[in-house]
Amino acid sequence: MKNKPPKVPNIARDIAHSIATGQVSLVGAGPGDPDLLTLKAVKTIAAATVILVDDLVNEAVLQHANANARIVYVGKRGGCASTPQAFIEKLMISEAQKGENVVRLKGGDPLVFGRSGEEIEALQKAGIRVHIVNGITAALGALASLNTALTHRDHAHGVLMVTGHAKPGDPGTDWRALAHASRQAKLTLVVYMGVAAAQRIQYELLHGLPANTPVAIVQDATLPSQQHALCTLDCLHQTLTEQRMASPCVLLIGDVLRGLDHLGRKHELQSALG
Ligand code: SAH
Repeated sequence: MKNKPPKVPNIARDIAHSIATGQVSLVGAGPGDPDLLTLKAVKTIAAATVILVDDLVNEAVLQHANANARIVYVGKRGGCASTPQAFIEKLMISEAQKGENVVRLKGGDPLVFGRSGEEIEALQKAGIRVHIVNGITAALGALASLNTALTHRDHAHGVLMVTGHAKPGDPGTDWRALAHASRQAKLTLVVYMGVAAAQRIQYELLHGLPANTPVAIVQDATLPSQQHALCTLDCLHQTLTEQRMASPCVLLIGDVLRGLDHLGRKHELQSALG
């Protein structure tokens, strides 16, 4: 029997491959205000040859892009027709394999409810180099605009970031368990994508949290169109409906919001600029 020749690494081929292969950066565009971009995000956007833009990204951020960069809009809003995730991943991989310097621009921080986990896995599997550039997540932008901290030595020892929108077929968050945990451990609850399920979230959370738990609802955080409403947990859904608040909103729930001036009233809508 003939011996198989040993596998010798083809160094020339590997070097050629790594030169030809581009890279993908998952970049956080922040919550809306383009001044909240990090310097690293600005530099990474400027160096990109292909930019895939999510729909919560402020267009103004693209002023940093090179005039020759190819811009592709790949919006993905819950419930709306959107570019399938598998297509986006394929596109990133094929562009990087052509040697392009790809930037995937995402709202807020790419690591918070941004499907980055799935994308990192797919890119690494395809042998593509991945870089992450952090951004300011929506909840932090929202809290800054309310002059409120996320934690407080007296009221909030920690934070739970939760999505109100589970994958189809997934039962989603156990809100009752969360309510008990957040009460016992003094945690602030931060709910992303919670508008559509607000009624159920309120109902379930009231099984473990007091009716008068303070809530802030912030829509379009950090943008000139920002609005917020302050209420108590038992009025969450009513407030959203009466004030016609819509996605994108973050719901901030917990005693850390007790310091806000207007909590005495049932609910109140204010313009960020007013
Ligand atoms: N990666 C993003 C979150 C993406 S999930 C981040 O770190 O912020 C999309 C959800 O984020 C929206 O449904 C909403 O809950 C929240 N969101 C994003 N931008 C927002 C904004 N400007 N104001 C309020 N909520 C926002």
